[in-house]
Amino acid sequence: MPMPALPLRFEGEPLTIDLHMHSTASDGALPPAEVVALCRARGLTHMALTDHDTMDGIVEAQAAARREGIRLVPGTELSTQWRGVNIHVVGLLPEGPRGDLVAGLVAQAEARERRALAIAERMEKVGLADALARAREQAGSPRPLGRPDFARALVAAGLVPDMGTAFAKHLGNGKPGDIKAHWPFLSAAVGWLLDAGGVAVLAHPLRHGLTRRKRGQLLDDFAAAGGQAAELVSGFQNADLTRDLARQLQDRGLYGSVGSDFHFPGGHLAPGSMGAVPRTATPPVWTHPRLAALVSLPASAA
Ligand code: AMP
Ligand code: MN
Ligand code: MN
Ligand code: MN
Repeated sequence: MPMPALPLRFEGEPLTIDLHMHSTASDGALPPAEVVALCRARGLTHMALTDHDTMDGIVEAQAAARREGIRLVPGTELSTQWRGVNIHVVGLLPEGPRGDLVAGLVAQAEARERRALAIAERMEKVGLADALARAREQAGSPRPLGRPDFARALVAAGLVPDMGTAFAKHLGNGKPGDIKAHWPFLSAAVGWLLDAGGVAVLAHPLRHGLTRRKRGQLLDDFAAAGGQAAELVSGFQNADLTRDLARQLQDRGLYGSVGSDFHFPGGHLAPGSMGAVPRTATPPVWTHPRLAALVSLPASAA
């Protein structure tokens, strides 16, 4: 008999699952196998690797997960646009990339390339000479570039004191380097994830800078597009806000997911580190029929 490893409801107990993490396949610092090993070392039993707009790290991560005896669900975090806002959607994809998602991921990689050229042009205007090459240097591999690579290049050139300032002044929400036009509409990206047999999870709903009302509209549109879940807890977040968000999910019949959004060791977040999930009627995303195999561990690993 497989041992049940995950609770069927959120009842306030600590969880051993993290469904949102990054590796060197996108803007994370650790190779996929090292992310998996770190998860195991921290006592997690279940994890998803969710690199930005790619699933290139999944093969390595899956092999490591088998070695380490941890259950891994293949994932990705898609960049999209909704009403002029850059919205992230995590895909949990037990069947891997297939269907419309295959072409979708190719389109995302191309969009990232074109966007990098546009960001580079704008960063040159604020004084970063040879911006594309400088960002590429920071990335240290041929993977698609992201805004953190430009942020690090701005710091390295002495134009800003740190990453936080780079985003606040040049790359964050509404700044010149925040370019959304290349991304697919939210509803299209959700469609790719559904077509691949996956579950679409609205990422960090409290971190998109929306009012409660606008967040409600986003959740309405997301659910109408077929999205099934949202992150109830992303990293450390205020418990009152979590309870309020749980109500917004319940009202729309959405499942709740949890994730650290881990990117690199040494920061305040590690795999599995996130705020407490309160007792709530919002069902955990791993009880969704498409993820049912996650709820128990194989006997060998239990
Ligand atoms: P991109 O996927 O290229 O649009 O870049 C977005 C990424 O930038 C996020 O996933 C974070 O990893 C990172 N990021 C966003 N805001 C900040 C910030 N204020 N400081 C450091 N990194 C940030
Ligand atoms: Mn990131
Ligand atoms: Mn995100
Ligand atoms: Mn993320």
